[in-house]
Amino acid sequence: MKYIFGPVLSRRLGLSLGVDLVPFKVCSFDCVYCECGRTTLKTMERKEYVPAKEVLIELKAFLEKDIYVDFITFSGFGEPTLNIKFGDIASEIKKISGNKLALITNASLFNLKDVRKEASLCDVVLPSLDTAINETFRRINRPCEGINVEDLIQGLKSFRDEYSETKMALEILFVRGFNDSEKELEALKEAVEYIDPHEVHLNTVVRPPAEDVYGVSEEFLKYALKVLGEKARIVGVSHLKERNCEALFQAIIEAIKRRPMTIGEIADLLGEDERIVGKYLIDLEVLGKVQKINHSGKIYYRGKNHEEDNSHFNADVSSNCSCPSKKEGYNGGGSCQF
Ligand code: SF4
Repeated sequence: MKYIFGPVLSRRLGLSLGVDLVPFKVCSFDCVYCECGRTTLKTMERKEYVPAKEVLIELKAFLEKDIYVDFITFSGFGEPTLNIKFGDIASEIKKISGNKLALITNASLFNLKDVRKEASLCDVVLPSLDTAINETFRRINRPCEGINVEDLIQGLKSFRDEYSETKMALEILFVRGFNDSEKELEALKEAVEYIDPHEVHLNTVVRPPAEDVYGVSEEFLKYALKVLGEKARIVGVSHLKERNCEALFQAIIEAIKRRPMTIGEIADLLGEDERIVGKYLIDLEVLGKVQKINHSGKIYYRGKNHEEDNSHFNADVSSNCSCPSKKEGYNGGGSCQF
């Protein structure tokens, strides 16, 4: 599948089927923390980056399999609202499926009435707002020329006023040394009160980011939680413990125990999407469970001290497993939301 991925297990949405509406790293931002790496096409131009017709063909094929998902989510490796057919695709999905829709967005286009109207087709909108100060906005999100954070905040406020029935869960991602000062928190508090989202999700850098930046401490997140008020909740700590798709983690470890393999080979072997396998490998690398090897220009992965590590890994993850796969008979691979 080219445009559909998952279902993946999202910390915020449950089982989520991802829909990618732009090619790899087409985005209006180039965030320092982006886990997909540097933006390759930084743009504000809305166009049909990937053909709506093909997205819907893939989606219909998936829906025919009758696999349970909590949400069909516009997300992926760039900004979904840059695809000018986003609204048409969302309407069509509403017609052909009873699934709830979610949109993960950087909100850079929410100052456009059309984009707000299209976003309102979703049941849940999860926009990012990492700072309310322009200078920091340029440092963290590195937006296209001409985007400023006041417009972004106003776009979100307009959306709340115009489509109050659509749930908004605002995400703030804290980066150490960028947006973790008292001044930043006060400005964010003011912006949050002005926008008045239903929920505020506090997150921090966990996976390897685009640049050499680091997450904030759990203590800081707890402090931010107090400052930002009752709608706030922390979603970005101990995420590996929340991850429950232990089966796929273990299958990957088992596969590369025998011989080093590329992401493509692992994905083929396990019948899983390459992007999902790639995300799991990133986590396994962070945990020190796999080693990346460059051989003749090709990247391979192999297990690292696997016997000792597997028992440690089980202690870390399995005991906390609450995977819906177990509760709801789901047999797909699964992973966390990006
Ligand atoms: S984190 Fe999201 S908004 Fe930022 S560069 Fe990556 S895809 Fe774009």
